[in-house]
Amino acid sequence: MTATALFQRSTLLALVCGLLLVSSSAAVRAQEEGWSRLFPGHRVIGNLYAVGTYDLGVFLLASDAGHILINTGLEDSTPLIRRNIESLGFRLEDVKILLTMQAHWDHTGALAQIKALTGAELWATAGDVRVLEDGGLSDPQFGGHELFTPVRVDKVLRDGDLIELGGTRLTVHEHPGHTEGSSSYSMRVREDGRDYNVVIANMGTINPGKKLVGDAATYPGVADDFAKTFRSQKAMDVDVWVAAHGGQYGLHDKYQPGQAYSPETFVDPEGFQAAVERLERLFQRQLLSELSQIVEQ
Ligand SMILES: [Zn+2]
Repeated sequence: MTATALFQRSTLLALVCGLLLVSSSAAVRAQEEGWSRLFPGHRVIGNLYAVGTYDLGVFLLASDAGHILINTGLEDSTPLIRRNIESLGFRLEDVKILLTMQAHWDHTGALAQIKALTGAELWATAGDVRVLEDGGLSDPQFGGHELFTPVRVDKVLRDGDLIELGGTRLTVHEHPGHTEGSSSYSMRVREDGRDYNVVIANMGTINPGKKLVGDAATYPGVADDFAKTFRSQKAMDVDVWVAAHGGQYGLHDKYQPGQAYSPETFVDPEGFQAAVERLERLFQRQLLSELSQIVEQ
């Protein structure tokens, strides 16, 4: 790859999750470095473990009957994920179900490899099936060429579906907008006599350059999808939350490597509401701006 091609790829990578407005190649490199830097696997609460990188959220739901793995990081993330899973006393080979939160390659890159290694089934919501199966080729914002290794979806999930494996009972929430099939998952955990509502939330961030309305809309109905997602998330009863990027849920403020486990570490109901409301305000601001430009034309 030429230096120019490398820079273009880096810029695209930096844009894909819309966390930072990146204006220099140094900032791009810093963000990418956070995506691929090893971060110790740790228990979030109950049987939920974070096994991703410094910034990419990858989550293991462990059970005696096998595990569920949500997201996979970049194409080369498999060794880091395996190392984190093994450091917690589990085996990557025991993963039975693969789930995703959004069909963008910083979360789906290693799906095909981990599926082949484990023989696990990939379950996904209808809106993300096409992009998962063509490796991002038909991604309405970033597609046109393959962005990650295509991976076959074995089962289509719907809003409200219950995924059960061993003692794990996980509810599917369709939260589209960021991608057409973006989804969150929730469960209830009991620890020390207290019940915790836990959500693995796909946040409604808008990638730079994404358009919400009119002929330029990234996909038909994208604005309605975002609005529906914010409504749904604001109505959720959340005690503990994590998200697709560590930076979105304050991972590094809440948890330092080596910190002793406590079910309270990631309890943050106000933080969840505030994060959803902040993103909703950004969405409404962009929507108004796009609508006023259409009116002016
Ligand atoms: Zn994304």
